[in-house]
Amino acid sequence: MKIHHLNCGTDCPFGGALMDGRSRGPTARLVCHCLLIETPASGLVLVDTGYGLKDVRHPHPRTSRMMHGLLNIRFREEETALRQVEALGYSAGDVRHIVLTHLDFDHAGGLEDFPGAQVHLTRAELAAARDLDGGITSEKRYRPMQFNAVTNWRDYEAQGERWFGFEAVRDLAGLPPEILLIPLKGHTWGHAGVAVLGNDGWLLHAGDAYFFRDEVRRPGRRCTPGLRLYQNLMEVDRTARLANQQRLRELSLDHSAGVRMICAHDAVEYERCAAGAPLV
Ligand SMILES: [Zn+2]
Repeated sequence: MKIHHLNCGTDCPFGGALMDGRSRGPTARLVCHCLLIETPASGLVLVDTGYGLKDVRHPHPRTSRMMHGLLNIRFREEETALRQVEALGYSAGDVRHIVLTHLDFDHAGGLEDFPGAQVHLTRAELAAARDLDGGITSEKRYRPMQFNAVTNWRDYEAQGERWFGFEAVRDLAGLPPEILLIPLKGHTWGHAGVAVLGNDGWLLHAGDAYFFRDEVRRPGRRCTPGLRLYQNLMEVDRTARLANQQRLRELSLDHSAGVRMICAHDAVEYERCAAGAPLV
């Protein structure tokens, strides 16, 4: 299966290199790294959706003013998944499935641009997003306006054989067995990674289970202070989040497994993938 790497949203929060580890000016650059997978029999499959057309046109109240300001989001129509799918010569209807790492505003914004797609995610995530508990983080992160119109939900609990030691959902309805959900609770209650066996082997899109490229692929965790703070601010379960991140780090260092790993927001990882370059 061929995998395209798309950036479906750009955030430029203040903090420069204290956030992204490399910017020279006062602002950093974070991306919304999504995947577009060409499957033999299931059409196109999108992993996460970034910001959508409606977010670009009406940022409020689709996204919260607090998060818009904190992340300094740059809404751009040409970065939406829909416009990029069209630029590749396809149409919205060709995207038959969307697999979500979670339902945060910067991952779910494009759902409505693909009304014919089935949307796959963990049961815990769908429940958490629907039952806004009134907490401030919950209201800022989950924006019902972005997903209330979705009718084709497919929600799952872990089942089947483990994947490199991780719990997995192996049978996603209508999808080939080479696409799996890997529950990775911590950032949200139902957060998951998405594993894809592409032409170059296994790729794990780890969503927001980590945020900075040096949190994996090295024995000790290295993260910028800005992204440490942001991860702490957005987490729901620190113990689970850090434990899952440690397991991901170990998997990334296990060369016999040969799993390439990316997160949603690191621009360097995204640029390397888009250029077909190795991650280290
Ligand atoms: Zn995110």
